[in-house]
Amino acid sequence: MAALARAVVLKVFQRPGVRRWMERHGMALGAGRFVAGETAGDALRVAAGLLAAGRRVSLTHLGEYTSDAAAARAAADTYVDLLAAARSRALEVGLSIKLTQLGLDLDLDVCLENTRRVLDAAAGAGALVEIDMEDSARVDATLAVFQRLAPEYPFLGVCLQAYLHRTPDDIQRLAPLRPRIRLVKGAYAEPPSVALQDRAAVTRRYLELARRLMDAGCFLAAASHDGALLREVLGEARRRGLGPDRYEVQMLRGINPSLQEGLVAAGEPVRVLVVYGREWYPWFVRRLAERPANVGMLLRNLVSPAARRRGP
Ligand SMILES: Cc1cc2nc3c(=O)[nH]c(=O)nc-3n(C[C@H](O)[C@H](O)[C@H](O)COP(=O)(O)OP(=O)(O)OC[C@H]3O[C@@H](n4cnc5c(N)ncnc54)[C@H](O)[C@@H]3O)c2cc1C
Repeated sequence: MAALARAVVLKVFQRPGVRRWMERHGMALGAGRFVAGETAGDALRVAAGLLAAGRRVSLTHLGEYTSDAAAARAAADTYVDLLAAARSRALEVGLSIKLTQLGLDLDLDVCLENTRRVLDAAAGAGALVEIDMEDSARVDATLAVFQRLAPEYPFLGVCLQAYLHRTPDDIQRLAPLRPRIRLVKGAYAEPPSVALQDRAAVTRRYLELARRLMDAGCFLAAASHDGALLREVLGEARRRGLGPDRYEVQMLRGINPSLQEGLVAAGEPVRVLVVYGREWYPWFVRRLAERPANVGMLLRNLVSPAARRRGP
């Protein structure tokens, strides 16, 4: 049922007419809850507030599925400039990058070259970098890039999606590298042949994979807003005597902030992912699709200017 709702929301909001309308009005109608703004300055302002409140922060400049080499190169430049701007403000931030923005669909070497440029800048700034995981058709290529670069850049991590049937095997293959893994439930519409469809099954699989990653000596970034699941994962970390050098919780800015605050107050390491940029729409639609109640929020804001002013 959850997978069906997700597929419907993705389909409706990807229609060209809906997209055009939403790109004009969506920020005011609720996307601003999730997206820091369109500029690096917006993202760094939000990052500064979160760092001052005891969070770790990673930044994403939104954009994906680039089909133009110049645009892929420009995306890498943006990250290099972002790290320089963060450094000049003494803000310690990490990055979360999408390989299709850096040319994965164009040519593997183009993508490797652009990603290396970002990683060299990150090495200079002492910033960690994580590679997002995109739709299932890109998993092989994404992991190939990660496996090529991880030995050269030990601060590099990659995201794995608990809903994919293949992920247990991927973990077994990657474990000898002792990598930094961000574990998520998975945000794309995937068919039953590729991914678990049932929410409860995905949550059970997540916990099982989190245990496996901890036991294999990987750094676990447990990325979720599911409080019950995170409590179980943190309990497993405690039972294994792991410290904040071996795990952290990750959440998206704008989702479940009270859970975030509670975890920080309890002394848990929490990283918040802050996204920004003009190409916010496809990312925002995935946030709508993973919680269709957010579509209700959009509609309420549309009919009630007062609700829009108050925010979600
Ligand atoms: C830091 C981070 C990085 C991520 N990177 C990737 C990635 O690279 N690739 C990928 O496929 N997916 C990624 N995701 C998304 C992930 O796959 C899930 O789609 C998303 O986290 C929702 O699942 P959940 O674990 O929060 O659990 P859910 O069971 O979906 O949600 C638990 C609770 O959190 C709240 N919540 C969750 N989502 C929303 C929302 N959109 N709006 C409002 N409330 C919400 C609700 O209260 C919900 O009941 C990332 C998520 C995070 C936190």
